[in-house]
Amino acid sequence: MNTFPSLDLADHLLQSIRDLGFDSPTPIQTLAIPVILAGQDVAAEAQTGSGKTAAFVLPILQRICAGPPMDPAPIRVLTLAPTRELALQVAGVYRSLARRAPRSIKILGVIGGEPTEQQIAALAKGVDVVVATPGRLLDLIGQSVLDLSRMEVLVLDEADKLLDLGFSDALAALLPLIPARRQTLVFSATLPQALLDLSAPILRDPVTLRVDDAPVGPVGIQQRVIEVDADSRRMLLQHLVEAESWQRALVFVATQRASDLLAAKLRKAGIWAASLHGGLDQEDRATVLARFKNGKLRILVATDLAARGIDVPKLSAVVNFDLPRSPSDYLHRIGRTGRAGATGVAVTFIDHKSAAHFRVIEKHSQIQLPREQLLGFELSGEALRSSKGPAPKKGARKSKKDKLRELAAQDETMAARSPPTEAG
Ligand code: AMP
Repeated sequence: MNTFPSLDLADHLLQSIRDLGFDSPTPIQTLAIPVILAGQDVAAEAQTGSGKTAAFVLPILQRICAGPPMDPAPIRVLTLAPTRELALQVAGVYRSLARRAPRSIKILGVIGGEPTEQQIAALAKGVDVVVATPGRLLDLIGQSVLDLSRMEVLVLDEADKLLDLGFSDALAALLPLIPARRQTLVFSATLPQALLDLSAPILRDPVTLRVDDAPVGPVGIQQRVIEVDADSRRMLLQHLVEAESWQRALVFVATQRASDLLAAKLRKAGIWAASLHGGLDQEDRATVLARFKNGKLRILVATDLAARGIDVPKLSAVVNFDLPRSPSDYLHRIGRTGRAGATGVAVTFIDHKSAAHFRVIEKHSQIQLPREQLLGFELSGEALRSSKGPAPKKGARKSKKDKLRELAAQDETMAARSPPTEAG
């Protein structure tokens, strides 16, 4: 059996792991930790929720602690993450795993939405690990306040997302400033050719790691595809929240406007909901996230980018209200539920217009999911067929009478409940 002690991790790290309550390493941790400890470059395909962050943070912390302390500390590790939320979360993982280290390890988030001056001041005092988003990193490189000449490890986290964000510019600016002799670790939910091409010049004899050998998608996540008219999606969502007793659900939509609208309508219907998107300032985003984590919100409606990096331990469900654009977005989204061994459900709504696109996502993800329709929310017009998949299970769940009774009861509960007063 795999255990953390068998991975040759230092005692202080084993203690931090125990503090966090991790019993045994996840598959990506078992694969990646020894390779990274051995100093090799890595291109790893690991989804969000697989425990990938600790998979690189643990061996990196071990490396930092092995060297002599220097004052002020030079930047030895640079981790790039596509969004502020993810960068903050990754910095949090570094901090919690470094808590028992024999000496203090300085970790700094270099992210947008926060004053540059504070980050520059912290850098001047000495920092071991920088976790940065590409935009702010470029900004600070432009101001010549980042000395990366003694950097030892470069990590690209959620690298497939970095690609979409003009990341190659950041990389071009970065490469001349960092030592050629370094360890480079690329972590990504998928390893598309464009990413492999971009990474090839920065990796040295990389070891490729894949843990995604389960063709049915991430373990512990039940994936459901429900056919429903676009106009009926909100009512179906409300129905599912109540009928399935979801305590905390993350609902994905395509645009900021759709996010605000849907959250407002849900609140009107008596469900505690808020909207999270890139149009909100950093403080509002942090507040909404904190309320969602504290259980004060039952539904968080979000766009893909805003939701990146959200780590909520007990997510009952993820809903694709609007379809994700790409198969990797689909995996990222559904990876938000069923994290690290917990079970969760990922529900995708499709209609006549979006069915073909979802078939493409299934094909690329090597999955084929049965279609369902729920009584009272049936798709109008002709039934959809997946290319080979089974015909939809029409009304497999409830009789029409049950459904009507339930809807009536639901209306009563909604009327009895005073509507939430806060805005998202
Ligand atoms: P990540 O894939 O890095 O986003 O991690 C997903 C979640 O799994 C986070 O909430 C981690 O705290 C948790 N996690 C990471 N490693 C383990 C482990 N070995 N056992 C249990 N949970 C873990």
